[in-house]
Amino acid sequence: MIDLHLHLDGSLSINTVINLAKIQGISLPSEKPEELKTYLAAGEKTSSLNEYLRCFDLPLKLLQSETAVEYAVYELIRELDSQGIIYSEIRFAPQLHTENGCTQQKIIKAAIKGVERGERDFNTRSNLILCDMRGGSSEANILTVNLASEFLGGGVCAVDLAGAEAVYSTSMYRELFELAAKLSLPFTIHAGEAAGADSVRTAVDFGARRIGHGVAAVEDDGLLKKIKDYGISIECCLSSNLQTRAVRNLKQHPIKRFLQLGINATINTDNMTVSDTTIKRELDLFTEIMPEFPKERLLMNSVNSAFINENEKRRLCSLIALKP
Ligand SMILES: [Zn+2]
Repeated sequence: MIDLHLHLDGSLSINTVINLAKIQGISLPSEKPEELKTYLAAGEKTSSLNEYLRCFDLPLKLLQSETAVEYAVYELIRELDSQGIIYSEIRFAPQLHTENGCTQQKIIKAAIKGVERGERDFNTRSNLILCDMRGGSSEANILTVNLASEFLGGGVCAVDLAGAEAVYSTSMYRELFELAAKLSLPFTIHAGEAAGADSVRTAVDFGARRIGHGVAAVEDDGLLKKIKDYGISIECCLSSNLQTRAVRNLKQHPIKRFLQLGINATINTDNMTVSDTTIKRELDLFTEIMPEFPKERLLMNSVNSAFINENEKRRLCSLIALKP
C-alpha cells in the first residue's frame, strides 16, 4: 500500500501524543486514551474544513521542537510500516513548528532525520512534502519554498499549499508557485475541498502536478478533461471528505467519475488520527463505491503519481509485483 497524502500533525498516534507531552512537560486535556481521542479526532461533530482544522491545535502544541518533530516522524514511520505501507509522502508545514523560536530549516532537518532513522529501522520508504500555508505570511511561505528547493532529493520531494481554502483563495498564491516552478520544484495543491472548481482550475494553471482532494473539479467537464490530458493526479481522501462535508455521502464521491474518465486518482488517508482511519479502511470505503475496480490499478495510480524518479517507481512496482 502507498499513501501520498498524509499530514504529520494529523496522524500522531495517541501513544505518541502522550509520550510527547510527558517528555516535554506539557499538560494534556486528559491522560485517558479514549478521552484524549475526542480532542484529536474530528468524528461526526465537524461541519466544515475550518472546524476539522481545529483538531490540529493540540498536536501542533506538542511539535514545537526539533526533538519532538524527529520523534513524531520516526513514530509515524513505525506505524506506516506496521500497516504494510511500502511508500509514503508525509507532509507538514515547517512554519507551524517555529512558535518556540526554532527555525524552519532546523525543523525540516529534524524531520529528515526522523525519516532516515525510520527507514533504517523499518521496511518502508518515505519522502517529505513541505506545506505552504493559506493565511501564512508571505515571508514564511517563500522561505518554505526556498528550503524545499535546498532539500529537494535529500528527504524532501515537493511542496504543497494547505489550510483554510474557503478563506484564502488559491489565486492569492500565484507568485509563490511561480517561484516553485522557477526552482523546478514539483508541487501539489489542496484545492476544490472547501472551494469550487475555480480553485482547482487555478491550481492546474499554476502547474500543479497533483491536486489534494479536488472534489469540486467534478463540476466542470472542461477542467476534468484538462486534468486528464495533462496527466495530473488527484489525491482522494474519502473519510476526510465526508468529515469536512466536501462530499455529502460516500456514493456521491467523485472518485468514481475521475477513474471512469481515466484520471490518475489515488486513495490516501489525509490524517490518520484526525480522520480516525488507516489506508486499509480507506481502501475498504473505496470498495463500497467501486467494488469492480481493480485494486492493482489504484496502486499503480499511486506509483505513477508519486514524487519519485523512474528507478524508484520501478522499485515500488517490483515490490508490489506489478509490471512497470
Ligand atoms: Zn490534506
